[in-house]
Amino acid sequence: MSDASIEAVQLWREELKLCKVGPGQTVAILAPGGDAMQDRAQGFLAAALELGADAYVVTLPGPRMELYGLGSTPLTGRPQVIELLKGADLIVDLVLLLFSKEQLELQAAGCRVLLCVEPLPILQRLLPTPELKERVLAAAADLEKAKRMHITSDAGTDVEFELGHYPILVEYGFADEPGRWDHFPGGFLATHGSDDGVNGTVVLDTGDVLLLPQMRYVEDPIGLTIENGYVTKIEGKGLDAVFMLDFLPSQDEDREAWAVSHIGWGLNREARWSMHNVPGEFGMNQRAFWGNVQFSTGPNTELGGTRETPYHLDIPMRNCSLWLDDKQVLDKGKVVVPEYA
Ligand code: FE
Repeated sequence: MSDASIEAVQLWREELKLCKVGPGQTVAILAPGGDAMQDRAQGFLAAALELGADAYVVTLPGPRMELYGLGSTPLTGRPQVIELLKGADLIVDLVLLLFSKEQLELQAAGCRVLLCVEPLPILQRLLPTPELKERVLAAAADLEKAKRMHITSDAGTDVEFELGHYPILVEYGFADEPGRWDHFPGGFLATHGSDDGVNGTVVLDTGDVLLLPQMRYVEDPIGLTIENGYVTKIEGKGLDAVFMLDFLPSQDEDREAWAVSHIGWGLNREARWSMHNVPGEFGMNQRAFWGNVQFSTGPNTELGGTRETPYHLDIPMRNCSLWLDDKQVLDKGKVVVPEYA
């Protein structure tokens, strides 16, 4: 089914409604050159116009950002386009501005930014809801108060994060407030431990997910030693450890690539860990599925840190238990707090 089909336009319209698009609003749709996103751009354009908003498409030639190159985007070096976009209330991002200075500049100017790069079949299953927003915000209120996060698993994970130094990234799947970024479909939250305040061991077990440029389900465990905010050792006998080590530059080449990045947990009850092999997928089923702990490595600039590196790995883990101070939030991969379970 095309991203500009009647069914797709209906979906984009529901999503734009959640983003508070209506008469008097201006929606800028940012599309990459080439054919890949043209149907989606036209579909969003039709949906925004149907809702009574003003809308336009900006097509920016330039390579679509790959996961190996976070931080440089088709907006880089185009200040005149950035100035134009600042006049929009909502920017629909089909080019992947994530982790870029340009995105932060647009948010600071008050633009709402909605990233939408997952293939249509995934998004049709995962249209977010106000109920998802409520649960993610309830979890964020707990995370906000916590001074310490402790994560364990039967596989051997035992790691502590000192909290309170970074803001919280709240992804409920729609951008409904000025300056807010979100990612359709969303359904998780995250923050960073303090720069030198993450210590312990993380063991990636069978079924955990390495969101490398090609998604990979871990088969053979990988042990990560973490000292003062950095992974210092990666051990494992299987192919998965080989992949991880091949992805990363050496610690001498790029120390920040080995830094611990965001940490949080998934709350999306519709997302499916096992839903894989949809062509072009970005991995939001795996990032957001209910009860996963999403560990990650690499940059922290998105939440205001100073660690810059193009190497970012999201690593959703199953069957973990998680405590915020003394309050248990997850028990072996199940959310146990009634307000956001
Ligand atoms: Fe990430």
